[in-house]
Formats: sequence, C-alpha cells, structure tokens
Amino acid sequence: MRLQVKFLLVILSRGVIPILLNKPWHHVLMNQLLPYDQKDMRHSFKMRSSYLYALFSINGITAGAHRLWTHRTYKANLPLRIFLMFWQTAALQNDIYIWSRDHRVHHKFTDTDADPHNSKRGFFFSHVGWLLCKKHRDVIEKGKTIDMSDVLADPVVQFQRKFYVPLILLTTFVLPTWIPVYFWGESLKVSFISTITRYVLSLNGTWCINSVTHMFGTKPYDKSISSVQNVTMGLIGLGEGWHNYHHTFPWDYRAHEFANFSINMSGAFITFMSKIGWATELKVVPDEAIRRRALRTGDGSRANINTLNKEELISRIPENYNNNVWGYGDKDIENEEVQILKAYS
Ligand SMILES: [Zn+2]
Ligand SMILES: [Zn+2]
Repeated sequence: MRLQVKFLLVILSRGVIPILLNKPWHHVLMNQLLPYDQKDMRHSFKMRSSYLYALFSINGITAGAHRLWTHRTYKANLPLRIFLMFWQTAALQNDIYIWSRDHRVHHKFTDTDADPHNSKRGFFFSHVGWLLCKKHRDVIEKGKTIDMSDVLADPVVQFQRKFYVPLILLTTFVLPTWIPVYFWGESLKVSFISTITRYVLSLNGTWCINSVTHMFGTKPYDKSISSVQNVTMGLIGLGEGWHNYHHTFPWDYRAHEFANFSINMSGAFITFMSKIGWATELKVVPDEAIRRRALRTGDGSRANINTLNKEELISRIPENYNNNVWGYGDKDIENEEVQILKAYS
C-alpha cells in the first residue's frame, strides 16, 4: 500500500499538478505527442522537435543500453557508441552499466526472486514498484554472478559513469528546456513542464516492457516463458514489444523477425548504421531456425506454422532449451544456437 501512495505522489507532483496549474496543459501534453496543428508550421516544428527528442532518448535505451551493451547483438564504432551514450543519458534510467546489469539479471533469472522486476509479483511491482523498494537479496546475490567485464571495459561507459550527474543535468533537463526557449521563443515554464512530461511518459513506456509485455499477448516462439508479443508495445516501443521473440533469441539485434521502420524502429536504426559502416557483426537468427523453434515450443500463433513438416522438423531439434541466457557471449547459450549463429554471421 505504501508503494501505491508513493507512486501516486510521484505522478501527482511530476505530471498532474503542474499540468493543472498551468493553462496550456494541452500544449504541454501535445508537446510529447505528434504534431497537431498542421496549419501553423512554426508551431508544428516545435511539436516535432520535442517528439524527436523523446524518440532519440528512447532509442538510446533500446538500440544502446539494451541491444548493444546488454545483449551484444552487434558491434558499434566509437562515434555510434558516443551518440547512443548521449541519448541513453538523456533518458535518465540509470547509467549504462547499471541498466545493463539489471537487464542481464532479468534475462538470466526471469520471474524468480533474483529478477529485479519479477512479473510474478504483479503488474505494479514489475512496472515501477521494483524501483520504489529495496531489492530482494537474491537480486543482489545472484546479480554478482553476472559477467559485466565487457561493459565496464568500454571507455564510453567509463566516461558516462565518471560524469553521470553533470551529463544527466545537461542532456535530460537543461538542453531540452533551453533549446525551445532560445531557438523559437517558447516560454521557460511550458518548456520545462514539457521536459518533465516527456521524461515521465518515456519512463512509463520503458516500464511497460517489464510489465505489459510480460502479461498481455501471444507466445509464438516459446509458450513456457512469461514474455509475450504485444502489438501496441511493439509499435510504440520502437520494436521492444515483441518480447516473446526477444526472450527466446536475446542475441538477435532485431528483437523481432523483421527490422522494418514501421514496427521496429530501433532495428531499422541499427540496420541503417550497418549500411554506413558504424555498426558491424549484426547477429540474426535465420528464418529456418526461428520456424523450427516456433514449431517446437511456440503456442501456434506464428504465421505460416501449419505449412511446415512438423515431424521432420521436431526430430531435428534438441529436447530442452535454456531460456535463461542474457545474450551473445553468455556461456550458457545452447551449443546448437552458437553453431547456427556462426554459420550465418
Ligand atoms: Zn533484453
Ligand atoms: Zn523481459
């Protein structure tokens, strides 16, 4: 109960009360969403720029902290790592090292007491409650067994950790508030409230991956795990909502079968970066392996599943899969999966 009260106070103090106290509440809210006034180009530009700031900062989490540093699904050169670090800082969701460590622990011990946002403890806990209370001792103990040496060895991560406080002040608050005021005369009040509202909305979007996509959706790839495919979160979460696929194949840079711009913006971003040579060694699970796995362990909801020769395909895959793997480089990854990856890399 105390958690709910704390959560309500956060929502009230950061979102509802500032909006109610300030007349242009619709302006504040719409600053975070799509442009709504197409006739006024100057106004429309303001809307778009604020939306883009939110988009890039979330991409810093999804393509950066998540798919690059946590799961090692591809390699990025120095300029791309600096770019992603800047935007990951702007999202203010802990530094890259802490974010990646928590997420590796989540994959390694999903839905146990060692999972920081164990969805078996309910929607509220997995959404935000886990950040409002002390960590379960298993999270701390088993978290120490996760190898984080690769993340800590990155000089970009070291730089961010060293200057984290000034960096978050600059990227999360000062820049997004100052830019609209300086360049197109937005009032300081509206600009600051827009900054806070953008932060609250993007935080909740990210938290939905831990709550919504562990509860509401289908399981085409593995029905034995809690993570699901959720269309809404897939569309608004830059491709992170295809969570049944992601937990089944955490080393795939697409976090989905497709890296289209429309359903997987971060996947499309990484593909684009590889085209200009900034991202290399993109890991992809081949289509045949996906279909075989879906047939073996999925709930039957994957498209085209009935066109396969079930008996023949089942006979070619091992009995048990280990789902508790944090990504490429985890020593517990199934040997067969490593062989497939090597063959297709
Ligand atoms: Zn993940
Ligand atoms: Zn998950």
